[in-house]
Amino acid sequence: MTKLLRIKGTRLWASLMEMAQVGATPRGGVRRLALTDEDRRGRDLFAQWCREAGMTVSVDEVGNLFARREGTDPDAAPVLVGSHLDTQPEGGRFDGVYGVLAALELVRTLNDAGVATRKPVEIVSWTNEEGARFTPAMLGSAVFTGSTPLGEALGKCDADGVTLAQALEQSGYRGARAVTGRVLDAYFEAHIEQGPILEAHGTTIGVVSGGQAIRWLDVRVSGMAAHAGTTPMPYRKDALFASAQMAGELEQIVARYAPAALVTIGQINIANASRNTIAANVTFSVDLRHPEDAQLDALERELRTAFARIAAERGVSVEIDTDWNSPATPFDAGCVALVAQAAAQLGYSHESIISGAGHDAIHLARYCPTAMVFIPCVDGLSHNEAEEALPEDVTCGAEVLLNAVLARAGVAVAGQAAAA
Ligand SMILES: [Zn+2]
Repeated sequence: MTKLLRIKGTRLWASLMEMAQVGATPRGGVRRLALTDEDRRGRDLFAQWCREAGMTVSVDEVGNLFARREGTDPDAAPVLVGSHLDTQPEGGRFDGVYGVLAALELVRTLNDAGVATRKPVEIVSWTNEEGARFTPAMLGSAVFTGSTPLGEALGKCDADGVTLAQALEQSGYRGARAVTGRVLDAYFEAHIEQGPILEAHGTTIGVVSGGQAIRWLDVRVSGMAAHAGTTPMPYRKDALFASAQMAGELEQIVARYAPAALVTIGQINIANASRNTIAANVTFSVDLRHPEDAQLDALERELRTAFARIAAERGVSVEIDTDWNSPATPFDAGCVALVAQAAAQLGYSHESIISGAGHDAIHLARYCPTAMVFIPCVDGLSHNEAEEALPEDVTCGAEVLLNAVLARAGVAVAGQAAAA
């Protein structure tokens, strides 16, 4: 068994707080939208820290930023560790940046301890994870893993019509390195949970088992417009009340799949809305999530049956389109076990948890063996300037990350390096 290493919690915390000054907001949050001047300054600072830690920094065609610490085996593929430095418009001090700077602390600790790894260790900060400036979210890792073509990504526009390609040029982070085709040994990402479960359970470490399946549906309900004052209730084909009944029944359907199933209707629109006209055309979105694809399929079937029945009863029509379908993404059993093992050996309480949010790790999990480490955040709050994590949890999560990565990368024993 490899000797356990401990990080310097105060050093990691100081780096987090220094980085939080880049794009700091008056209410204690951070605003570093992807490839803005703030993001550039955050990247510059991180790259400088990496060089000071003896790492080689490179940037790929979509702005993903890498810092490499060589291993002793020249043929070994790297273990990649990281997350993202960009934030929401009113973001917090931990979302994303924690995983990047925990990886940096990992390398600093290896340097202090004079530990050489057999495989190289690389840190990554992915471009545009948040999706707040350019949609979709997790764009840099999507291109890296080949799920989004580079050309398509470069053409994405922000709200002002600036393309990703232009933003990369302006920020100085349009790199020369080919974005696709890299061979990785594994990917590890530490992140705040962004939900309330670990805190509620009093657990320090979330051993993330994978990402849940997500399905986005667009529902269009068509009735008939008519006068609000002259049309008796039984004569109406009211698309809004039909939609409301669908929403109510959907909540009941999802309750039968509790607690794993989640449903959100985040957008609803009445076309040509007028307060004295019966709603004829209503569209609304449905966001369905469940850790298992089969359960999500069953849930969607029930949804479609119920919506069709309600539409028939009310004399309206309903169309349901699938806008996005992201299957459940189990993480690599071996890498997940390394996270659990590190937590156990360090003596930190831990539990298995599913990733409710999207993460770059979800893309990576379809590309190479992947695992994540979650730590609690105060009140489960994230995407909020008040986002907070406790220093002891920040330290524990980074130590779990360090020892899991070390187990995967392998410690080179003295003399072996020369032999290799
Ligand atoms: Zn994040």
